[in-house]
Amino acid sequence: MTRKYYSSSPEETIELGKKIGERLRGGDIIAFRGGLGAGKTTMTRGIALGMGLRDEVSSPTFALVNEYRGKTALYHFDMYRVNGGLDLDSTGFFDYVSDDCVIAVEWSENIADELPGGCIVIELSAVGEDRREITVIGDERFDF
Ligand code: ADP
Ligand code: MG
Repeated sequence: MTRKYYSSSPEETIELGKKIGERLRGGDIIAFRGGLGAGKTTMTRGIALGMGLRDEVSSPTFALVNEYRGKTALYHFDMYRVNGGLDLDSTGFFDYVSDDCVIAVEWSENIADELPGGCIVIELSAVGEDRREITVIGDERFDF
């Protein structure tokens, strides 16, 4: 299923993220695509809220991975500085992949060849100062 959504503000992107987050379950991996400022971290804020996680989401750019614990944990990766398989191994990414948690990956373009199959792809692109086109490639859960 491929579905396009439009957002006119960060708040709307968070709302869409919330709806997605409510429908996620352990084992889901979200592969974000879209450049700097596209809204990946903003949408992850909504996803965390939808998953019932209350901790403030911040960009994992420096930490590489941020963990949000809850009934189902969310691991939020930033692959901006990661380039391909060997690099990815050294991040420990594959140790996090499990049916018990949700993983969200910013800059998934950088590990496209290594991503496990069946990821939910969320591509964000700016189509105006505050307007974003958000393409979700996943299953019927994300067709609202
Ligand atoms: P990324 O993680 O993709 O680099 P961020 O979510 O950190 O992007 O930042 C997105 C920036 O764009 C923020 O400054 C946010 O306020 C702004 N913005 C403007 N309009 C939107 C929108 N519709 N959705 C998400 N962010 C938006
Ligand atoms: Mg970000």
